[in-house]
Amino acid sequence: MSVRTRFAPSPTGYLHIGGARTALFNWLYARKHGGDFILRIEDTDRERSTRESVNVILEGMAWLGLDYDEGPYYQTERFDRYREVIRQLLESGHAYYCYCTKEELEAMRAEQMARKEKPRYDGRCRERTEPREGVQPVIRFKTPREGEVVIDDLVRGRVVFRNAELDDLIIARSDGTPTYNLTVVVDDLDMGITHVIRGDDHLNNTPRQINIMRALGAEPPRYAHVPMILGEDGARLSKRHGAVSVLEYRDQGYLPEALLNYLVRLGWAHGDQEIFSVDEMIELFDIRDVNKSASTFNPSKLLWLNHHYIMHSDPLHVAHHLRWHLGHLGIDPAEGGPDPVDVVLAQRERCKTLKEMAEASAFFYRDFDTYDEKAARKHLKPEALEVLKALYQRFQALPEWAPEPLHQVVLDTAEALGLKLGKVAQPLRVALAGCAISPPIDVTLHLLGREKSLARIEKAIAWIEEKSSQQG
Ligand code: GLU
Repeated sequence: MSVRTRFAPSPTGYLHIGGARTALFNWLYARKHGGDFILRIEDTDRERSTRESVNVILEGMAWLGLDYDEGPYYQTERFDRYREVIRQLLESGHAYYCYCTKEELEAMRAEQMARKEKPRYDGRCRERTEPREGVQPVIRFKTPREGEVVIDDLVRGRVVFRNAELDDLIIARSDGTPTYNLTVVVDDLDMGITHVIRGDDHLNNTPRQINIMRALGAEPPRYAHVPMILGEDGARLSKRHGAVSVLEYRDQGYLPEALLNYLVRLGWAHGDQEIFSVDEMIELFDIRDVNKSASTFNPSKLLWLNHHYIMHSDPLHVAHHLRWHLGHLGIDPAEGGPDPVDVVLAQRERCKTLKEMAEASAFFYRDFDTYDEKAARKHLKPEALEVLKALYQRFQALPEWAPEPLHQVVLDTAEALGLKLGKVAQPLRVALAGCAISPPIDVTLHLLGREKSLARIEKAIAWIEEKSSQQG
């Protein structure tokens, strides 16, 4: 039987990185076994589900490169099918109408608590045959009273639930809408899912789902319940710990392969290998090797991986993502300025994120209005006038605008003025970039081009002159 896995998010917020890891594990499992990966949007909670959230999920999946073979299926388009299965369960005697009122249920609960029992529905409507005037019933599943459900979980091993501990769960609300456990069962069966890989917060639902499947005469899929991700303080990872949404990581300048590499290692290891290309992940990842215990999210390791991928990926690929970040700053490299591939080569060592790289490279593409205050105070002093003027003259006369001769000009100017290299290069850098940090000065000059470099030196000269005339 060919493998079929699914990712089944509820579109009620952003795509959480825990969800992304679940998606990745399902995707890897399908890809490894030559199977299919299905995307199913569990949007039956109409109050909390939004179109924006669906879009965020689709966008996040596309950005991560987790392509699906089927879907997205939407549960809200399958209500007829759920109704049909509920009818089938009623007809076969596996489900029944429950007319208990809220007050009755509350009283039942209070009595059970008083007896120090676990509160649960006691099944009193199981044998009721007459409807009750004025009560819109819910429909409950008749959970077997005896026996056990044994889950041979691919991550946790054998997990046993006693049926006596489960109660008759509601499968349709009084307005007729199906509940989560019912829709998941119907979909997992109809979609031929062979392996359900999901967060272990769902482990308690699994015996209920298996019981419903058995009542429908179906064989349940295999399950793998993956442990939660914790923040560094040991609490479940949430917004409090910083960015938790996939698109937030994109916006902060992470490469998708860095995030994938980070996520695959959360709870899974292959020796002490840290770097995994997607192909290697497919080859080496095995859901059975995932840790049973929770893993801790470590943002600095993710940042380290991101820098690794910025440094070692094909610059053409990195530039593709850099363009997106430049676009966010309102810069379109197609309108002029250096090729982003060259910018990547010049900046990749000092920029750990692409957002940082875009911000540090904006000066190549557009003029700035002000100098970084500290840099200007330190490097654009009256003494720098002579330096900038000398550089300007030499650059103007330079026949070829290439790194090597540009570098030579800076050396020659320093020598001619009897200055250390830094006393020449730093004022020049601030003039060109507006701040004291940029790629090596010859690279900066070269990427910026003759015209812009000369114009910015002129501007810095004028700025210093004006400043000293104000002070003088
Ligand atoms: N829709 C559920 C959730 O987002 C997942 C259900 C499942 O994987 O079975 O938590």
